[in-house]
Amino acid sequence: MRNIFIAGNWKMNKDASQTQQFCTQLESHLQERDFGRVKAIVAPVHPFLAAAEGILRSAGVAAQDVSANPQGAFTGEVSASQLASLGISHCIIGHSERRQYHGESDELVREKLLRLRENRIIPIVCIGETLLQREDGQTREVVLAQLEGCFEGVELASGEEVLIAYEPVWAIGTGKTATSAQAQEVHAEIRAWLKERYGEELAQKMHILYGGSAKPENIGELLEQPDIDGGLIGGASLQIESFCAMLDIALQNGGN
Ligand code: PEP
Repeated sequence: MRNIFIAGNWKMNKDASQTQQFCTQLESHLQERDFGRVKAIVAPVHPFLAAAEGILRSAGVAAQDVSANPQGAFTGEVSASQLASLGISHCIIGHSERRQYHGESDELVREKLLRLRENRIIPIVCIGETLLQREDGQTREVVLAQLEGCFEGVELASGEEVLIAYEPVWAIGTGKTATSAQAQEVHAEIRAWLKERYGEELAQKMHILYGGSAKPENIGELLEQPDIDGGLIGGASLQIESFCAMLDIALQNGGN
C-alpha cells in the first residue's frame, strides 16, 4: 500500500525564526499520534535546511532545488552531495517556477534527478501543463513529454526512490484547483506511462502527488482519488494550522 505525502513547498517564505517555530510546532503535532502512512515533508529555503533538519524527527526535509553539477565553480549553487551531508531526504526539482523564471528544461531536470539519486535523496519531480496547453487539449501530450524528458535513461529499482508531483501550472498559486476528477484523469495517465516504462509492479509502488491550490478544504476529496498519493502544497502549507489540518485529513482518509 502506498503512503500519503503532505509536502509543503515554502518557496521564498519564512525567515530563520519562523522556520524554527513552524518545525517545532509540526514536530509536536506529529508526536501526538501515529500518523501511519501519512508522511509530512517541508521544504524551507536552503539556508534554513539544517535548522529544520535539526528539529524535525518525524517529518522529511526537502530542498527546493539542487545543482545539476556535482561540485566546483558554480557560484550560488548547492550540490546534491552537500544536501546529503545535511541528511536532507527529498528535493523538489522541475517546479514550474524554476522552469518559467530560470528556463529549466526537462534535460536539466533529468541531470538534477541523477545527481540526487547518486546521493540517495528522493527527487520530487514536478510536471504539469499551462492553461494554454490545457485549453488546446495538449495536457496528456505535454505531461507525457515531460516524463519522457525527465526520466530518459533513468532506471528505478523499487519505485520508491522518486516522487512525481503533477502540478497544473494554471492551478499554482491562483486559487484555481483542478477538480479531483481532472487531477485523477492526469494521475491515471501518469501511472499508465509509468507502467509502460517501468512495469506494473513499480508503477503501483510509485507516488504521484497533486499540487495546485490544494488546501484543507479540498485535500480530502483529492486524496480520495485512486491515483493521488498526496499533495505538494504551496500557500496552504505556510500556516501551521492548515498544514496540520491537511495531515489530519490525510490520516482520516485512510492513512493508517
Ligand atoms: C506549488 O508551488 O508547488 C504549489 C502547489 O503552490 P500552491 O499550493 O500555492 O498552488
